[in-house]
Amino acid sequence: MSTPPAMLHPELLAQDDANAIIRDGRRLDHAEAASKPLRSRPEPQPRGARVHGNRPIDQAEAAGRFIAAPEHEKMHDERLWDLRQKRDREMHGIAEWEQLRSLASAIKEHTLTHLDQYLEQFEANATSNGIQVHWARDAAEHNQLVHGILRDHGAKSLIKSKSMLTEECGFRSYMASVGIEVIETDLGERIQQLDNEDPSHVVVPAVHKLRTDVADVFSRTIGTDPGNSDVHYLAEAQREATRPLILKADAGMTGCNFAVAETGTFVVCTNEGNADLSANVPKLHIASIGIEKIIPRLEHLAVFVRLLSRSALGSPVTQYTSHFRGPRAGGELHVVLVDNGRSERLGLEEFWTSLKCIRCGACMNTCPVYRRSGGLSYGATYSGPIGLIIDPTFNQRKYSNLPFASTLNGSCSNVCPVKINIHEQIYAWRRVLVERHETPLAKRIEMKAAGELLSRPAAYRAAIAAADVALAHLPRFVIYNGLNAWGRHREVPHPPKQTFHNWYQANRGEKK
Ligand code: SF4
Repeated sequence: MSTPPAMLHPELLAQDDANAIIRDGRRLDHAEAASKPLRSRPEPQPRGARVHGNRPIDQAEAAGRFIAAPEHEKMHDERLWDLRQKRDREMHGIAEWEQLRSLASAIKEHTLTHLDQYLEQFEANATSNGIQVHWARDAAEHNQLVHGILRDHGAKSLIKSKSMLTEECGFRSYMASVGIEVIETDLGERIQQLDNEDPSHVVVPAVHKLRTDVADVFSRTIGTDPGNSDVHYLAEAQREATRPLILKADAGMTGCNFAVAETGTFVVCTNEGNADLSANVPKLHIASIGIEKIIPRLEHLAVFVRLLSRSALGSPVTQYTSHFRGPRAGGELHVVLVDNGRSERLGLEEFWTSLKCIRCGACMNTCPVYRRSGGLSYGATYSGPIGLIIDPTFNQRKYSNLPFASTLNGSCSNVCPVKINIHEQIYAWRRVLVERHETPLAKRIEMKAAGELLSRPAAYRAAIAAADVALAHLPRFVIYNGLNAWGRHREVPHPPKQTFHNWYQANRGEKK
C-alpha cells in the first residue's frame, strides 16, 4: 500500500472518531466516501453540454458523454442518492412534515399573489434599517448597478458567497469585463470558478467532480501537488490560497435565502460561514435578492428553515443561518432586488408556482435522469427537474429539449418542500413547446406519427404484432442502429408471447 499523502493538519485524521467511514483501511470523509478510490490514471472529467448561442441544447448528447465516464456517473449517482436518503431520514423524524410542506406552499403562494405589497413593505423597512435598496429589471441592470456601487467606492476586488441569481445574471464574466476581481468563497463554487465551469447543482456546485478532478484543478491554478487528491489537503490548500484574498477584498457580496417583509431584514444559510466572511470582512456589503425570496413575517422563517436543510442535505439545519439587519458600524449595506423575468413568470398560469422554489436541490437529488447525467449536461443555470421548468421561461428555443429530459415519474414533486407540481409542469412545457413549434422537426414528425398510431386501436395492434415478429427475426444490425436511441444503451426487451390486450380479451373480456 502506498504511503498516505502528507497532511498540513494531521489532527484532522483523529482515529477516535466513531462516525468515521473506513474503506480499505483508509478513512474517508462524507464527500469522498461515495467516490471510487484513486487509480493510477484517473478517468478524465466529462464536460457539460456544448452551447452554441441560441441553438437548442442537446442534453441527451452531453448526458451520453457523462454516462460514458463510469466512475463519474457512479460517484454522482451514489452521492446524490445518499443525500436523498438522508433527507428521507430527517423527514421521518418530523411528524408534521407534510403539514410543514403545505404551510410552506401556502405562505409562498400567498406572498407571490401579493408580491407588490410585500416588496414595498420590505423596501420601506429595510430603508429604515439603514439599508440602501435598489431595483434591477434584468440581469444587465443588476450587473451595471452593482458595478456602479463598486465604482463609487473605488472597489477593485469582491468576495462573494454562492448565489444562483448571480449565475443567472452572468455576473462574474461581467465583472471580469470591467476589471473587477471576483473571488468565490464557497469551496465548491471556488472549485468551479477556478475550473472556469458553471455550478452543476444549486447546493453542491462541484458534486460532479471526483477528488482527482479537484486535484487537477488546484494543481493547475493554486499549485498543489497534482498527485495528491486527499480532500483535507486540498481543502486546506484552497483555504490558505483564498484567505489572504478575502482579507484584502474591497467589497463583499451575498445572495439571500429569505427576505422578511415585516422586518426589512434578510437571511443567508450556508454550511461554511463564507457568507459571513463576505458580508463582514469588507465594509461594503451588497446582497442580490430575487424578488421571489420575500416572505411576509419573521415567524414564517421557522417553517422554511426547518424544511430547507433537511430537504437539501439531510441535515437538521445549516451550520450558519445568518440574519442581516443593517449595515455594520462604519459600513454600507446595499440590497439589489432583481426581477429578471420573474414578473413575467408570475403571469404564466401553468408555471407561476415554480417561483415558490427555495433552491434546496431535493428534486435534483432524487431525479434518475439528473443523477445519471450530471447538472452540466443541461447547459443552463438551473439543471434537474426545477431547471426543466424554469429554463424555458428564460429562452424557449435554447432550452426546448430540456422538458423532455424526464421520465415524469413524479419523485421530484413528492420531495419538493414547497409542493411544486414539478412533473406536471414539465409535462405542460412539452405541450407548450410543441404548440409553439419550438421542438426539433424530427421530434415533431415522430410525435405526430405516434399520435396518429395511438389514436387508431386497430392500426396500433397491427403495428405491435408486426414489431413483435420483426424483433424476433430481424438481424441484430437492423434493430441496433443509429435510429434506435433506446438500443444504444440497453438491450431491446424480448416481446412477450401474449400482449396485455390479448390476455385481457381472453381472461376478462366480455364472453361472446
Ligand atoms: S423545486 Fe422544490 S425540490 Fe426542487 S429545488 Fe426548488 S424547492 Fe427544492
